[in-house]
Amino acid sequence: MPRILLCAWLFVIANVVKQSRKQKNIIMKKLLFLLLLVSCQLSIVNSKNLIVLHTNDLHSQIEPASSNNLGGFARLAGQINQIRAENPDNVLLLDAGDIWQGTPYFNFFGGELEFDFLNRLNFDATTLGNHEFDNGIEHLAEKLQMLTVPVVLTNYDVSESLIKDFIKPYLILERNGLKIGILGLLINMDGLALEQNFEGIKYRDAIETTNEISAFLKNEKKCDIVICLSHLGFNNDKILAGQSENIDLIIGGHTHTLLENGWTETNRNGKTVTIAQARSSGMYLGVVEIELQVENMRAKN
Ligand SMILES: [Zn+2]
Repeated sequence: MPRILLCAWLFVIANVVKQSRKQKNIIMKKLLFLLLLVSCQLSIVNSKNLIVLHTNDLHSQIEPASSNNLGGFARLAGQINQIRAENPDNVLLLDAGDIWQGTPYFNFFGGELEFDFLNRLNFDATTLGNHEFDNGIEHLAEKLQMLTVPVVLTNYDVSESLIKDFIKPYLILERNGLKIGILGLLINMDGLALEQNFEGIKYRDAIETTNEISAFLKNEKKCDIVICLSHLGFNNDKILAGQSENIDLIIGGHTHTLLENGWTETNRNGKTVTIAQARSSGMYLGVVEIELQVENMRAKN
């Protein structure tokens, strides 16, 4: 059985504050060394690494936030490009929704600048937040035509709506020889958005849907890792993690929660699920390092 180790932290998107990668590497190496010591002498451990960069609730914050001068799309881009340059084969860049709404840029340009940013940075996937419906589903469908980034939404039936051609129920990506399944989850919008703004899309229970599709991704599609892009909010993410069986990581959003070192829950099978969320408005760039160890048993001579 593969063993998955996850380690989550955040980069502050400012000019000066940055965590030392050197220190992190040493910690990870020590951890690996310890694991090698405790594992059976007859086994060979092959490990593969993946770095997941994540944003959530960017909320049209194209310029740095005026309250604390953190964030801004240019700084985010700089940090993302640097990490990708240092790790050319094993980085995923994901977003958990509510890209729109919050600054006059959205009111003037209707979300095109934000989608252009996702396109330019080549995000690997995003999901929809409730604020993507603020100008109605017709507006969203029109703007989705320009978005080249895959939009994953698993727990809504969109088959009879205007956005049906732009939504994928799940996604499978490959990085560094790993197969990664991606789900997208959006909170029940009853009471959160005007009903006519999300006309034609039908909510399905997030936990039930996640368990069904994640089992399919792990068992049928043979994914090594399953990641949920969740716009459910932190408390719902904790419940989801506890009731899940086949997800490894939740990239959260909606509640603008700052999880400096991630959060872990134990799932139905006693395995650890990591939850990460990077506050809001691009003030932080979330980083999750995943190490997947596969032990091949060797016969004793
Ligand atoms: Zn939201």
